[in-house]
Amino acid sequence: MSPIPGSGLAKGLAVTLRTMTKKTVTAQYPDAQPELPPRSRGVIGLFEENCTVCMLCARECPDWCIYIDSHKETVPAAAPGGRERSRNVLDRFAIDFSLCMYCGICIEVCPFDALFWSPEFEYAETDIHELTHERDKLRDWMWTVPAPPALDPGAEEPKEIAAARKTAEKLAAAQAQAAPLPDPTDPPQGGAS
Ligand code: SF4
Ligand code: SF4
Repeated sequence: MSPIPGSGLAKGLAVTLRTMTKKTVTAQYPDAQPELPPRSRGVIGLFEENCTVCMLCARECPDWCIYIDSHKETVPAAAPGGRERSRNVLDRFAIDFSLCMYCGICIEVCPFDALFWSPEFEYAETDIHELTHERDKLRDWMWTVPAPPALDPGAEEPKEIAAARKTAEKLAAAQAQAAPLPDPTDPPQGGAS
């Protein structure tokens, strides 16, 4: 059966009439910035102070886009008669974001909390080589990583915070013991002359 002449036009006009009064959903980026959830996968930040160069992230990355170079350094014995130790020193840490598929595996597997998601996403380049972010750039992204969400009120105190608090309490107690007691015969300080 052939369609009624003009029915297509009527359908089109009906859609226009139905939607013309609705609020527009088109975001005028970059004039209007999107409101992203704080944990969005924008770019990866490296907290290199935590990195032990264990290479786990580079080995697990499905795209092989994490490049790490390091060398070994000998640390002298902490006490006389002790043994020297060796440790890895990071020389290069880079991520090629032109290959990265934002799976987050590197962040999940890092045993030392050295990699974090940042919601920053505006790092497009005209030269693909610029998408390989080296160590310093990855370190700078750490400034854009949002603070972790607050703990549940009934949650156990994190081990690191508990240890730091105990150390601070011990130090304060030691300082209070070491401080000389005030002499009761001394004139009061700061009085009117
Ligand atoms: S997010 Fe995935 S693809 Fe990207 S660097 Fe990490 S492991 Fe590799
Ligand atoms: S898994 Fe973590 S600690 Fe190990 S090399 Fe990667 S970033 Fe460094």
